[in-house]
Amino acid sequence: MTFDWQENDIKMAQFMVGKMHKIAEAMNPKMIIGGAKKPGTHFDSTVYQTTHISGGAIMGDDPKTSAVNRYLQSWDVPNVFVPGGSAFPQGLGYNPTGMVAVLTYWSAKAIREQYLKNLGALVQA
Ligand SMILES: Cc1cc2nc3c(=O)[nH]c(=O)nc-3n(C[C@H](O)[C@H](O)[C@H](O)COP(=O)(O)OP(=O)(O)OC[C@H]3O[C@@H](n4cnc5c(N)ncnc54)[C@H](O)[C@@H]3O)c2cc1C
Repeated sequence: MTFDWQENDIKMAQFMVGKMHKIAEAMNPKMIIGGAKKPGTHFDSTVYQTTHISGGAIMGDDPKTSAVNRYLQSWDVPNVFVPGGSAFPQGLGYNPTGMVAVLTYWSAKAIREQYLKNLGALVQA
């Protein structure tokens, strides 16, 4: 497992928490709980930080920088298709499961309508 927060993740979180803090303060609440991650904070699976881990076999249009093409077909082994959040090149800010499902349907359609009629790479590198 190599996932960890990077400096930009921390900065984005601090920026958003700062904005949210101002909104919360304007509502004059009895108390405000919560804070942004501090610089140098590491991902820790023992506390709830995110369950939307993605990437690992990312999709792209260049075999030099991605593992699968837009149909989730392996660049290296054309009869291998890899559906799942593993295809996401970036983490989403929102729930990933809908996109995992949509990508899987998209891939299955391409397998049925293109790949099975003409075995081989669906995208030429
Ligand atoms: C607690 C929790 C809450 C969540 N809530 C939401 C939510 O509200 N909304 C949302 O959109 N998303 C939510 N998610 C995220 C969502 O569940 C995942 O993003 C999604 O399930 C990823 O789908 P996937 O097919 O990529 O991977 P997975 O669902 O993880 O499927 C991978 C599969 O591969 C199998 N596998 C692993 N290794 C091997 C192997 N060597 N050989 C064969 N099989 C293998 C695993 O057993 C597993 O079945 C939540 C996740 C968690 C943990």
